[in-house]
Amino acid sequence: MEELKKKLFRNQTTGWEEVNEEEKKEINEVSKSYMDFLNKAKTEREFIKRAKELADSNGYKDIMTFETLKPGDKVYFINRKKSMYLAIIGENGVENGLHIIGSHVDSPRLDLKPNPLYEDGGLAYFKTHYYGGIKKYQWTTIPLSMHGVIVKTNGETIDIDIGENEDDPIFTITDLLPHLAQEQMEKKLKNGIDGEDLSLLIGSIPLKDGDKKVPEGVKLNILNILNQKYGITEQDLTSAELELVPAFKARTLGLDGSMIAAYGQDDKVCSYTSLHAMMELEHVKNTAVCILSDKEEIGSIGNTGMESHMFDFFISEILNKLGVNRPNLLDKVFCFSKMLSSDVDAGFDPLYASVSDKTNAGYIGRGISLNKYTGSRGKSGASDANAEYVAWVRNVLEKHNIRYQVAELGKVDIGGGGTIAYIIANKGADVIDCGVPVLSMHAPYEVTSKFDVYSAYKTYKAFWQE
Ligand code: MN
Ligand code: MN
Repeated sequence: MEELKKKLFRNQTTGWEEVNEEEKKEINEVSKSYMDFLNKAKTEREFIKRAKELADSNGYKDIMTFETLKPGDKVYFINRKKSMYLAIIGENGVENGLHIIGSHVDSPRLDLKPNPLYEDGGLAYFKTHYYGGIKKYQWTTIPLSMHGVIVKTNGETIDIDIGENEDDPIFTITDLLPHLAQEQMEKKLKNGIDGEDLSLLIGSIPLKDGDKKVPEGVKLNILNILNQKYGITEQDLTSAELELVPAFKARTLGLDGSMIAAYGQDDKVCSYTSLHAMMELEHVKNTAVCILSDKEEIGSIGNTGMESHMFDFFISEILNKLGVNRPNLLDKVFCFSKMLSSDVDAGFDPLYASVSDKTNAGYIGRGISLNKYTGSRGKSGASDANAEYVAWVRNVLEKHNIRYQVAELGKVDIGGGGTIAYIIANKGADVIDCGVPVLSMHAPYEVTSKFDVYSAYKTYKAFWQE
């Protein structure tokens, strides 16, 4: 009977059971390079900067520097330093469609307001406005680092990166002591911390005029420090993008070393593994395209989000430079394309089992997770992959011996979510969601399994090699 079960049941064991020593080494190598990358790329701008370095050192060039293209050429386009598209021109040309893998490099965080600086009770603060879906209480009393740019009217850009080095100061948002929190503790969890109270503590020393006190002396002192260090005034903060992210490092989690705890794994775990896989490709049959998009966490809109026409421009540029373009070819190319929308999935959490359908949940450690459809309620807003395409993807995974699971985000009517899948599906391509299951998604510290990180890398590579 056991044999019959093994033959007929789907495999629901952990992937670790089948891992041999050699694979274990590979899993650890991929995980280590992923964690190192995460520590250097906490924001979308930093991710794209590092991705460009990787691409440049692997023979990729800006598509704008090419007059013509031919199979084997490796190109990229960087959109406003926040999103990037890469491609290897395939031997089959482009008329038969592209093999696209698309993920996003933005993650939930706190942004500074345009007029952030104020002083209250002898303390200086930066006001923030949260970005993406966060549980606000999770962002208080943790070390935060500040990343981003301040752009002056003369065009000069000042890069800010404070709080990652051990010698740097960090910042934090305070919370009320339990002794005085009776009223706060009665509130609903979502109202426990007010959005307007996510103010960042940044200083406490007032600037003095000889022996005389100066009104708003602490604020003045902060501006003086910023002016001496960066040559900026308070008004310069209005043309800045300063983002607060957890100052924690990516770390191995668990006594058995099987997991990764890190900020921003949604969706850098998929963008890094796809980028890493692409860097190892040389010649491909079908043109391989890697999308690293921005603004997914707030609906993929805007000129750096997936809804932007910048991506169409990139593909048109390829068609132009291959010398094959003609009216409506872009539409044809999309209609014949295949895509993996590589975004994270909710991992089954035994502590919160009630939100998941155990037979249809994604489990950490069981390999890459395919979501045939996303959406909420009656599949509203879903991008639903056709059975024929799911079978095609399964065949690729099984051919390459890659562990996978097919899952749903949660129980029916409990909630839901979406990715960039529908955007490319609307252009006519076959698309399926395909990513790494995560615990504590959108929290300052998210958890993944090293086995799944490795499975993602193998999946993306295999897909492009098809
Ligand atoms: Mn995501
Ligand atoms: Mn997300």
